[in-house]
Amino acid sequence: MTIQLKELYDTAAIQKLDTAHYMHPFTDHQALGEKGARVMVRGEGIYLWDSEGNKILDGMSGLWCVNVGYGRKSISDAVYRQMETLPFYNSFFNTTNVPAVLLANKLSAISPPQFNHVYFTGSGSEANDTNLRMVRRYWDVLGFKERHTIISRHNSYHGSTVAGASLGGMTDMHAQGGLPIPGIVHIGQPNYLESGRGMTEAEFGIEAASWLEQKILEVGAEKVAAFIGEPVQGAGGVIIPPATYWPEIQRICDKYGILLIADEVICGFGRLGRWFASEMFGIRPDLITFAKGVTSGYIPLGGVLVGDRVADVLIKQGGEFNHGFTYSGHPVACAAALENIRILEEEKLIERVADDTGPYLKQRFAELADHPLVGYADSCGFVAGLNLVRTKADNPHDNVAFDSALGVGMVCRGHMFGNGMIMRAVGDRMIIAPPLVMTREQIDEMITLIRRCLDLTHADIKQRGWLQGE
Ligand SMILES: *Cc1c(COP(=O)(O)O)cnc(C)c1O
Repeated sequence: MTIQLKELYDTAAIQKLDTAHYMHPFTDHQALGEKGARVMVRGEGIYLWDSEGNKILDGMSGLWCVNVGYGRKSISDAVYRQMETLPFYNSFFNTTNVPAVLLANKLSAISPPQFNHVYFTGSGSEANDTNLRMVRRYWDVLGFKERHTIISRHNSYHGSTVAGASLGGMTDMHAQGGLPIPGIVHIGQPNYLESGRGMTEAEFGIEAASWLEQKILEVGAEKVAAFIGEPVQGAGGVIIPPATYWPEIQRICDKYGILLIADEVICGFGRLGRWFASEMFGIRPDLITFAKGVTSGYIPLGGVLVGDRVADVLIKQGGEFNHGFTYSGHPVACAAALENIRILEEEKLIERVADDTGPYLKQRFAELADHPLVGYADSCGFVAGLNLVRTKADNPHDNVAFDSALGVGMVCRGHMFGNGMIMRAVGDRMIIAPPLVMTREQIDEMITLIRRCLDLTHADIKQRGWLQGE
């Protein structure tokens, strides 16, 4: 479908106003101001249109969130109905609202059995701030007031608030604003390509998990409150851990009685072919962070699934937990989530990713590894990534990377973006997280598009003289 939008939008005028007044997240405004932002104006299914009428295949589901695709009238209808009935009420002073109650019940039903309570927030970052306060409160109530340290991982992403960015392991974020705050320490990530040389994947998974035990012993087990991790790291570059990693992490947490927090803001709501990825990685977290896919991004909503171990203590012994947001349990956001979940169920989108389109994406995406620029391509459910390398070897640990200062990933992203494909660059790793509604035919279309853009990138960097030795 092509739509003519050019006459409807004055792109240059919008860009000018954008530059004049709008500060974007994670953006160098000097650089953006020179080019002007691309103006997105419409979405339908897996496609977006910009103000110039260009159609774009959204390989990133917006920002890992539009799981049911764009243009769902039933969600906008549900939102509209709720806005007409009760656009807002808080849940602070012994009050509640129907959509929040129904959603808390629904989430308890679709999550692993140890989860029977939900704490709502406005975003994933706020949910992780909630986690930080909640786990410390849990140990305080039990009388372990020393147990406040949270262990996280380098190159993890847990949001952009002070606690979220501190829990996260992004050095660029820590460098701004005096982070991390005290009481948060980091261990290495289970990145086989980066650190697994000389080991099988299985051996490396155990090795990477052992870093948690080392850190616990270094800090002192009696001071450690919790460990937090994304089942599959998203913003860090779709880092898929070895199968041995998470069960070993669970064993170590159990051994020392440490709470386990699974940040499923990306992995939840079908992204990996399950309601929650914890189910497939063999872990029983005490807390699960969610956001993004819970409403498919149509309206902001986040929260924490609170497992019985923590809920029992906070509810039966904790008294008042002095924490909450104006928009905790926002009725309109909860109505959007209920309809989003209904769609996921009715259209069996999660089963489809698990049994049909997920395996098909895996097969088709792996084929890209034969491209001269691609040194490694892997996927899990509906996330996938490939590494752009200068020279390929049989053992991926022997691939020769580009000088990171060249920014080959950004060059590639530019060719994708300029040719109707949204694929994100994390260094020289190119990643996707497509909407779960994507069909086999659309996967074929996407792979063809990616391959064409890889060819363009290859020709481009060859011309720049970056493929030394050819
Ligand atoms: C996006 C993200 C967050 C932060 O969510 P916001 O809604 O942007 O605050 C937290 N954790 C993970 C794993 C994420 O991907």
